[in-house]
Amino acid sequence: MPAFDEPLHVGRPNTGDRETFLARVGEIFDRTWFSNDGPVVRELEQRIAELIGVRHCVAVCNGTVGLEIAVRALGLSGEVIVPSYTFVATPHALHWQGITPVFADIDPTTHTLDPAAVRRAITPRTTGIMPVHLWGRPADVDELQAVADEHGLDLLYDAAHAFACSAGGRMIGGFGRAEVFSFHATKFFNTFEGGAIVTNDDELAETMRLMRNFGFAGYDNVIHAGTNGKMTEICAAMGLTNLEALDGTIEVNRRNHAAYRAALDGVPGIQVLEHDASERRNYQYVVLQVGQEYGLGRDELVELLHRENVLARRYFWPGCHRMQPYRDLFPDAGRHLPHTEQVADEVVVLPTGRAVSPDDVEVIADLIRARSVR
Ligand SMILES: *Cc1c(COP(=O)(O)O)cnc(C)c1O
Repeated sequence: MPAFDEPLHVGRPNTGDRETFLARVGEIFDRTWFSNDGPVVRELEQRIAELIGVRHCVAVCNGTVGLEIAVRALGLSGEVIVPSYTFVATPHALHWQGITPVFADIDPTTHTLDPAAVRRAITPRTTGIMPVHLWGRPADVDELQAVADEHGLDLLYDAAHAFACSAGGRMIGGFGRAEVFSFHATKFFNTFEGGAIVTNDDELAETMRLMRNFGFAGYDNVIHAGTNGKMTEICAAMGLTNLEALDGTIEVNRRNHAAYRAALDGVPGIQVLEHDASERRNYQYVVLQVGQEYGLGRDELVELLHRENVLARRYFWPGCHRMQPYRDLFPDAGRHLPHTEQVADEVVVLPTGRAVSPDDVEVIADLIRARSVR
């Protein structure tokens, strides 16, 4: 018998109050205004801009299209430097538009872009840097800004994991030229599918709003190439409802993360990544690094947990540079990415969120501890 009757997934959606959401859906039906800059999307944009403390929030249909729109609006071209240790949407948002993603290595302790590696990757074709605030822990924002300034590069953040997080006391969303959140169902905060681009740049925000809606500046007046990146009213209603539950979701995640850390403390070869309690964190990712001293290899641990119905995941394995089309385009990339390869081989992400209780955490931690050599 597995330890759990029902599978425990990584990234099971966190939801707010069902009745509140359904009431909002009722209002949307009554208005029959389903998309195109509706009142619910506007309210969500305003609430997010207030929460993050930025001038502009442009809600979009998903984080990937948000990145694509931001990349276009900034006019990036040639080469853009990205981590390989990220979800594949990060390089795809560039490659999809004929821009070459250039992979730079991460710092093995923070798991975010190493500014020194970024410096080494700059060529005359480089126009931008797209770091990721992985696991909701900020990239090295000061140093990356310094590199961008020195070389006249645009800094655009993939903030898909980092909604409601801070760096040096400042909310993530206000760094670089713009930052892009994902509100996918599996992320900390969801709108079913969705995302948002946030920026303090008035002109850039205006361009991105146009691009989100085919470039329409008014009836019959198209002034830009654009795409369809609009968020629907129903998705925004989910967003408002989940926003009301945000503090509770953070508290559940914080409690689970602390329980995992305590229960796995001292297990040889097992390290649970820390979330800095002096900053704002969403604690959405419980990241385990499995070292040599542990009794099992990382993949064996994942198999063991799956047999017990704990659907832990290898993230972001095997690294984007080992996925297509990048594997064929850059067959030697791994030579410059030793930390990426090491971390991708060691990480396991464990289930958390509102679907996971502290008792569940104890059971999962017992399964992991039981297989350690000591
Ligand atoms: C989820 C994710 C994205 C893409 O967001 P979608 O809303 O799923 O399109 C981009 N980058 C990272 C790092 C992600 O985790």
